[in-house]
Amino acid sequence: GKARNKNSLQFYSQAIKDASLQVVAIEHDLRKAIENNEFELYLQPIIDLERNKILKAEALIRWNHPKKGLIFPDKFIPIAEKSELINTIGHWVINSVCLLLKKLSELDFKIKISINLCPTQVLEESLFSYIHRCIKKHKIDPSLLELEVTEGVLVHDYKIAERLLSKVRAIGMSVSVDDFGTGYSSLSYLKKLPLDFVKIDQSFVKDIVVDDNDKAIVRAVIAMAHNLNLGVTAEGVETKEQLSFLKDNACNSVQGYLFSHPVRFELFLELLQSKLNT
Ligand code: C2E
Ligand code: CA
Ligand code: CA
Ligand code: CA
Repeated sequence: GKARNKNSLQFYSQAIKDASLQVVAIEHDLRKAIENNEFELYLQPIIDLERNKILKAEALIRWNHPKKGLIFPDKFIPIAEKSELINTIGHWVINSVCLLLKKLSELDFKIKISINLCPTQVLEESLFSYIHRCIKKHKIDPSLLELEVTEGVLVHDYKIAERLLSKVRAIGMSVSVDDFGTGYSSLSYLKKLPLDFVKIDQSFVKDIVVDDNDKAIVRAVIAMAHNLNLGVTAEGVETKEQLSFLKDNACNSVQGYLFSHPVRFELFLELLQSKLNT
């Protein structure tokens, strides 16, 4: 009856209040997280299927919160995206990746690292000059740096994205389209934009062994990407069966729990020296 409706309404409005209080709390803590050195980059190996070796890794941010413990990016990146905080965090990520690349090259490892950019970061005017400054400061080989951008910003902000991608590729960096297949039906941007790789979203890889539609989609994406001279990376590879389908269909590289979770830098170094990589 009425009373019950009123109660559930109160319940919902209380839940909304709690949720927005949580957002405010996270935003407040995020502002101090950089100066308190609470962020950490984990690396997930990307395995080249032709050479059967780790040639690349994706940098994935983690937040070691002093009270709440380990927080994953899905919990705070969307909140940071609503303010200028995302650019501050993004700069920290870029600088930190350059430091990791420097350590890797000092150890004689030639490994590429890719950085995730959300749409707001792609639109930031000073992004390129920041990247360029970091490369110079740490004396990084730009060909070891890759940017991952999602389809949405490539379509909606084509001009701005094009300008950024042209500049980063002109200095030798590479670019991949992240979460490919989840967003857009307009594929014309693939042909026009300066790109290097397509990353097939894990939602297509998940049921690839049993679902004929997913099989067809993945085969079509690989064929199309290769026709456009783009390499293909499959994300979220968890089983040997998924891997062998991808190998059989000429996918270039794979990433997923079958090989490794994203790991701390020290553990990543161990992976580079391990069986997986010889
Ligand atoms: P993404 O770029 O699509 O990253 C892939 C996500 O899939 C990662 O989650 C990774 O840990 C997870 N993953 C990897 N292998 C497997 C697998 O075999 N199975 C399954 N189920 N999942 C797998 P994570 O690290 O929680 O990151 C989530 C998202 O947060 C990323 O999605 C990316 O969009 C964003 N993100 C992470 N780091 C950064 C960053 O430094 N900057 C920005 N702007 N966004 C970031
Ligand atoms: Ca990514
Ligand atoms: Ca992805
Ligand atoms: Ca994603």
